[in-house]
Amino acid sequence: MSLSFTHEFSHSGFKGKVEIPTGLFINNEWASPKSDGARTIDIVNPATGQLITSIPEGLPADVELALDAAHNAFNNTWGPNCSGSERGKYLIKIAELIERDIDKLASIESLDSGKAFMRAKMGDVTTAASVFRYYGGWADKIHGKVIEQSIDKLAYTRHEPIGVCGQIIPWNFPLVMFSFKVAPALATGCTVVIKPSELTPLSAMYMTKLLKEAGLPAGVVNVVVGYGPTVGNALTTNPRVDKVAFTGSTAVGRMIMEAASKSNLKSVTLELGGKSANIVFDDANFNEAVKYAAHAIFFNHGQNCCAGSRLFVQRGIYDEFARKLTEVARRVKVGDPFDPSTYQGPQISQTQYDRIMNYIESGKQAGAKVLTGGERHGKTGYFIEPTIFGDVTSDMKIVRDEIFGPVVVMTSFDTEEEVIAAANDTKYGLASGVFTSDLARAHRVAARIKAGTVWVNCYNDFHVQIPFGGFKESGIGRELGEYALENYMQVKAVQINLGKSCPLPVEL
Ligand code: NAD
Repeated sequence: MSLSFTHEFSHSGFKGKVEIPTGLFINNEWASPKSDGARTIDIVNPATGQLITSIPEGLPADVELALDAAHNAFNNTWGPNCSGSERGKYLIKIAELIERDIDKLASIESLDSGKAFMRAKMGDVTTAASVFRYYGGWADKIHGKVIEQSIDKLAYTRHEPIGVCGQIIPWNFPLVMFSFKVAPALATGCTVVIKPSELTPLSAMYMTKLLKEAGLPAGVVNVVVGYGPTVGNALTTNPRVDKVAFTGSTAVGRMIMEAASKSNLKSVTLELGGKSANIVFDDANFNEAVKYAAHAIFFNHGQNCCAGSRLFVQRGIYDEFARKLTEVARRVKVGDPFDPSTYQGPQISQTQYDRIMNYIESGKQAGAKVLTGGERHGKTGYFIEPTIFGDVTSDMKIVRDEIFGPVVVMTSFDTEEEVIAAANDTKYGLASGVFTSDLARAHRVAARIKAGTVWVNCYNDFHVQIPFGGFKESGIGRELGEYALENYMQVKAVQINLGKSCPLPVEL
């Protein structure tokens, strides 16, 4: 069966044909999976609901071959056998190739995930390149410490790569997630078997061409596309995997921890869901807070783990804020991802569309007031209108559950104390926003919010140097920045006796 397909793009940002591999990427070669074409995965364009292509489905037996390759590379060409400077050169080369192919990668990402082309280009692809470059810079700066314990003892630590990593990523930021996972793992000397989401594997598959072109040794990164319960499960249960790094839902994260504990107690990091609070005090810069509140929820069509989906506005400005936010939501351009004026594209799939519409229905049934939206947008594809609910109460499903769509719930509050308690009244703890012009209050609230990120007077503002991750059921571990390196290293202490004799009370 064919192990690649060609897609012809013709939009204002890019015109041309792009060949995208579809086979499993193992040992720097594209191969047919064990299913040998008998089982395929349909890749659907969410903006039209039409088939883009069908690709071969990987199975657990393919994971074994990928693990053979990753172990071989770790023991021979990567890991302890490749200096940090060499590893850094590969990562920086990959960053350059991503930048060279920015229009192709952004077009693939828009086609496959439905995000607006310009956002994919200036956001996702640019971020992926900067993540590879940043960790390329770290690769030769990873080292242990000398610990001065006593005159007759030399002790030092070695920061060693953890080994072969299984990485499982979601569909909402396919290329960005690929970079968050692969780049720090390679910087520390780990090798990788990565499973992209079965809904959006195309940018990861295109990346395999760039990894090969960068000259990365065979087996260092292997890509197996398949479903969660088969390929994902094979990675989490396999004792030959030393570490699992997962981004996805809290429900699957729980299963992954359980599977890891039942196999070889492999190290696990989890980046999970959220229901983040965005708090606007009455002294905030009003217009900026309104625009950020819209960006907090409608960015990436609400399919954003840290979406500001619970909006708290202080009572004195609540009505005016709701009016203005409604006006902004109605002006958010929803539509064709390749139209340069589009901000919000489609939801990823029919399943997600139905899930979100069910939540909207449940909000209506529970008595929440739809201030705007709440309906399908257009006639084809999986588009949903930007939706704002007012008059919500804390027991409603739309307030408690992660909807993962363009739906925000608004509540008023009176005091700082009250809003902190309400913001923390969730099992999640991924992100939050605080809008105020009172510096002391900003710090006070930031210290008391139980979330891995607090944005003050901004939202969804990510930087490769700044760690990102969750409190509570939003995850374990941090991605980005220096912190992410810890996910892929283990510390060995070496203790050298410089002359102290053995305390055993026997004379020889
Ligand atoms: P998901 O949990 O359904 O799937 C994520 C990945 O896990 C996919 O590759 C899927 O195939 C795989 N998977 C599914 N079942 C599995 C199993 N039993 N064993 C192993 N792997 C399995 O999540 P999704 O729908 O792709 O993504 C949306 C979720 O991801 C949301 O909850 C969102 O908040 C979360 N997310 C979190 C972050 C973060 O950084 N915290 C970032 C993006 C998305």
